[in-house]
Amino acid sequence: MEKLLNYINGELVEPKKGEYFDNIEPATGKVYSLIPDSDIDDVNAATAAAKAAFPIWSRMSIQERSDILLRVAKLIGERQEELAQAESRDNGKPLKLARTADIPRAQANFHFYATGILHYASESHSMGDLAINYTLRQPIGIAGCISPWNLPLYLFSWKIAPALAAGNTVVAKPSEVTPYTAYLLSKICIDAGMPKGVLNIVHGLGPKAGAAIIEHNDIPMISFTGGTATGEWIARTAAPKFKKLSLELGGKNPNIIFADCDFEDMMKTTVHSSFANQGQICLCGSRILVERPIYEKFKDEFVKRVKALKVGNPKDNVNLGAVVSKPHMEKVLSYVELARDEGGTVLTGGKRAEVGGEFSEGYFLEPTIIEGLSHTCRTNQEEIFGPVVTIMPFDTDEEALMMANSTKYGLASTVWTSNLKRAHTIARELHTGIVWINCWLLRDLRTPFGGVKSSGVGREGGFEALQFFTEPKNVCVKY
Ligand code: NAD
Repeated sequence: MEKLLNYINGELVEPKKGEYFDNIEPATGKVYSLIPDSDIDDVNAATAAAKAAFPIWSRMSIQERSDILLRVAKLIGERQEELAQAESRDNGKPLKLARTADIPRAQANFHFYATGILHYASESHSMGDLAINYTLRQPIGIAGCISPWNLPLYLFSWKIAPALAAGNTVVAKPSEVTPYTAYLLSKICIDAGMPKGVLNIVHGLGPKAGAAIIEHNDIPMISFTGGTATGEWIARTAAPKFKKLSLELGGKNPNIIFADCDFEDMMKTTVHSSFANQGQICLCGSRILVERPIYEKFKDEFVKRVKALKVGNPKDNVNLGAVVSKPHMEKVLSYVELARDEGGTVLTGGKRAEVGGEFSEGYFLEPTIIEGLSHTCRTNQEEIFGPVVTIMPFDTDEEALMMANSTKYGLASTVWTSNLKRAHTIARELHTGIVWINCWLLRDLRTPFGGVKSSGVGREGGFEALQFFTEPKNVCVKY
């Protein structure tokens, strides 16, 4: 059985205690590789390597750093098919999604920050004849980067690339549920000539290897994407050490559909925004609010199209593959039961999808639509993070906004309308970090990305990430 290895000080190494745990393929339910069960000793070794590498990396010319990161981007592009196959197998997602979204985006992340850093400048503030201030934005030291399983290499590289571009060294941990492409990235970094110790990748469990990164005194900044409960623990643990924190957490995103929208465009996108990646994207619109005059028409057409979605072997031309793990599948199914208990009606789906053959033990779920629930019930308040959406009618703009803003989350929202004034007004009033008008997941990497309320603290993307990964220093020079 293949053993994945940690990437520490430029080398692929076994975990110090030599212990591993199983890596399961979601589509078959079978173990196919072994993951290092790293602990504090491995994190200490990674941190020591990152500490030793920092003075060299942070003082290297920006052009040289950029060139190394561009080589990583180029190799991701050259190995796109191998990476896409690995991502699909590790996560259960359709191969075509890994080929068209996950891996190209991981490449784009490195490319974007390798070139973005060349244009990153700081401010100066003149005090007339008296003095001039300038702002130094300096790399901080070691960045701890921890990422989730839903978009594995995509989100892992979204943190690592800006941290490195800004001149920091990194100790990173991918999700233990989907570690494989991070392991391939370590091989790519070796081939790209990344200097030793600049990037270190430690595999292992969140409460063990992950917690060791959060608690480490030599790691002054943490960039984390994952669940809100984990984010709360990280915030509590990092606060007394005054670490810089960027937290991208859960969501319960509203998709608000007005009667005056372009119905076909909205319908096509709504099927996608509900069930892409088996509904396991933090940005998926899981609460669909529909203006009453088109509610029945929307419901009939939506149910019809969702029933036609194909679930199955991720390598085939399917719409949905497997969800990521057995515990996650059971969690999602428990929410369908909860929805029934809360008085909801399952219009389609609600159970495991039978795929058969070598996939009979795989974690496949039917895409599920539920109606008849109040916006305040648990099903509509808690993050399910699977192929389950609810639909609810509304009568006025105010009611739509009230329902949309009624959860503790505030990551993203979608609005469908052809009324310009309404679109801008609703966008202004929504309590979310991102608002998509007549589109979904249309991303420009320069824009600020992140949520409000329990969806997180801070922003990634564009220069926001470079601001996070640097410390501003005011230098005041008297004439
Ligand atoms: P998770 O919080 O269980 O795990 C995320 C990462 O944190 C993993 O690498 C895990 O090993 C690590 N971890 C767990 N406990 C830890 C601890 N005590 N200390 C340090 N690290 C720890 O989340 P998940 O189940 O992997 O991912 C799903 C969640 O991620 C969902 O809530 C989803 O909404 C969220 N998410 C948010 C965004 C965003 O941009 N806001 C993007 C993708 C996913």
